[in-house]
Amino acid sequence: MRAVVMHAPGDVRVDQVADPAIELPTDAVFRVTAACVCGSDLWPYRGHNEITEPKQMGHEYIGVVEEIGDEVTTLKVGDAVVGSFMASDNTCEICAAGFQSRCAHVVGMGGIGTQAEYARVPWADGTLVRIPGTPTHAQQMSLLAASDVLGTGWFAADAAQAGPGKTVAVVGDGAVGLLGILAARRFGADRIIAMSRHADRQALARGYGATDIVTERGEEGVERITEMTGGYGAHSTIEAVGTQESMLQAIGATRRGGHVGFVGVSHDVTLDGSMLFGATVHLLGGPAPVRRYLPELVDLIMSGEIDAGGVFDLSLPLDEAAEAYRAMDERRATKVHLAV
Ligand SMILES: [Zn+2]
Repeated sequence: MRAVVMHAPGDVRVDQVADPAIELPTDAVFRVTAACVCGSDLWPYRGHNEITEPKQMGHEYIGVVEEIGDEVTTLKVGDAVVGSFMASDNTCEICAAGFQSRCAHVVGMGGIGTQAEYARVPWADGTLVRIPGTPTHAQQMSLLAASDVLGTGWFAADAAQAGPGKTVAVVGDGAVGLLGILAARRFGADRIIAMSRHADRQALARGYGATDIVTERGEEGVERITEMTGGYGAHSTIEAVGTQESMLQAIGATRRGGHVGFVGVSHDVTLDGSMLFGATVHLLGGPAPVRRYLPELVDLIMSGEIDAGGVFDLSLPLDEAAEAYRAMDERRATKVHLAV
């Protein structure tokens, strides 16, 4: 089959690789119908993560079940499915508590690669959620987003306790930040302040429900949020970048006793203990337990109540994956859909 393989920073190719097969009785193999490029795929692309050998890429997906292992009971061949970027049994104590991305038996789909014609999914019963009916193209794009960026934005807004009566600040205007805005709106937040200096992203942010835009960053951004909230800071802050500056900006923009949901993959972030002690904020983050939210997200998407597909502003065939990575690296695209 064809699959996207990263050979070195900046070197992405579509190679012929072996077809995946069932390895454990709890596995399924599915035909990928849509995949995409994630902001986190750009870290190795830009040389921030070491690449020691060619690596199959991708962890976001929707597809159709092609083959199931002997112990898979809830799925059948031909089911349309969506799953999280982390495969989980959905039965252990961590899963039961709603943190499936840290399942005791977790397997990262990024280590398998879904930017491909087919993929194996471990813990198929626990990981995959069946899509009812026949989704339109727009619904397919939303379901693809649910696999990671929508589910991650949803977790960030939940972790930040966005809701009625709350002012929410959003650090990061990539797909996750934008869909965190959609989630905060859906949760009923009063005011949603998007921190963005790009006109195209600001327009998307407003479309998803941002009420205010702040273009300042760092210390200046924190001062601006403080000013806009009567000196208090935001009740709820979504951090969707993962750098030292963005974490400090998120914590600084949050009022005492407020909540920060941090979901940007952390890169060289070091927090000072005294700063943290003084900040007096709730911090909850990490890889989003997308699986917790997937059944609800599938319902909301299939009933037409949310549309998250707007974050895909470029669609390319799998064979043009190299251009997909370039477009995201050069910020010519927010998020690229790969049609398989
Ligand atoms: Zn588990």
